[in-house]
Amino acid sequence: MKALLILFLFAQAQLFLASMAFGYRCRQARFVMGTVARVEVWQRDEASCQIALETAFAQIKMVDQLMSNFKPDSDLARINQQGAISPVKVDPLTFKAIALSLDYSRLTHGAFDITVGPLVEAWGFYSGQPSFPSKAELRTRLALVGYEAIELDPKASTVFLAKRGMKLDLGGIAKGFALDQAAQALANLGVSTAMLDLGGNLYFLGEPVQGSLWKAALVDGRNLDLIRILLDIKGGAVASSAAYERFFEWEGKRYGHIIDPGQGRPAWGLLSATVIAPLATQADALSTALYVMGLDQGLRLLERLAEVEAILVTEDSTVRTSSGLECVTPEKAEGKLRCTISPKNSTYPGSGRAPN
Ligand code: AMP
Ligand code: MG
Repeated sequence: MKALLILFLFAQAQLFLASMAFGYRCRQARFVMGTVARVEVWQRDEASCQIALETAFAQIKMVDQLMSNFKPDSDLARINQQGAISPVKVDPLTFKAIALSLDYSRLTHGAFDITVGPLVEAWGFYSGQPSFPSKAELRTRLALVGYEAIELDPKASTVFLAKRGMKLDLGGIAKGFALDQAAQALANLGVSTAMLDLGGNLYFLGEPVQGSLWKAALVDGRNLDLIRILLDIKGGAVASSAAYERFFEWEGKRYGHIIDPGQGRPAWGLLSATVIAPLATQADALSTALYVMGLDQGLRLLERLAEVEAILVTEDSTVRTSSGLECVTPEKAEGKLRCTISPKNSTYPGSGRAPN
């Protein structure tokens, strides 16, 4: 009886603590990094909640100011203007993002490559007026692509581009990187539960207040109003890459903004690639890479990455998932595919730990 009572009291205390800890929820959406950023935080009181929101947005804004393709005074713009003339000194965060990008290039055998800038430009995705480059132009631009030509000096925090005309583009990783920075800053403030959404890149910090799983919905690549897949996860990041927001159509075929660096052309074959990973940087870079790699090569890579799971949807709407996910078919889940990390998958770290 006594033991029961102690347990009961303990449960009461836990409940009390939980309501103290999550007494206040605040959220805000702001336009940053060319998209909408949403941050939702649970905190003890209104004041600390507002401080947390401001801290998270400040981190995202800082990453944007350093790594934007479009801001003339960003580190990235300076690298692209000066980098082939002499090494450019950059902020340690920019250095880290580029170093991580190179890791993902090596891991994906070049499917992820931030030197695609000249190709993204040639296909008109910077100007917003997409066009077909000529074969000669493609050849010239392809010669400027290749991550091996980025030279990093960690001691001096400098970036050097070995070929004149090279252009870096961090569009495939910067949002995830910004989310990890923001989540880390929140954790440093003592925030234990938060949800961040940066243009479809999601990060779940800690465990949700209600229930034990966070829920993410993935829309149909051909009908953005239709939720097709539901994802239940304990925490961490989810990122999707697809061509359905930035693309042009020509003679019935879609040409999207994710470029196959080997071919010099928009990647083709998948409608979307969604990655679930402990860190948002990982999820962002790998979803872009998997979109380029396509189904077979992508699934092979996934089986080598213990902590990473993915949902790949092909052009003909076939859904394939990596082996660490467990999914219930649409017939059993109100017409939607419902997936979760398999309980047998002991490699996924589970609840969203703070990135570092
Ligand atoms: P995401 O939406 O994260 O897949 O990123 C797509 C963006 O990444 C594009 O708009 C380009 O700015 C850039 N990008 C395109 N192709 C690649 C690639 N193969 N590797 C790395 N970044 C890329
Ligand atoms: Mg990406």
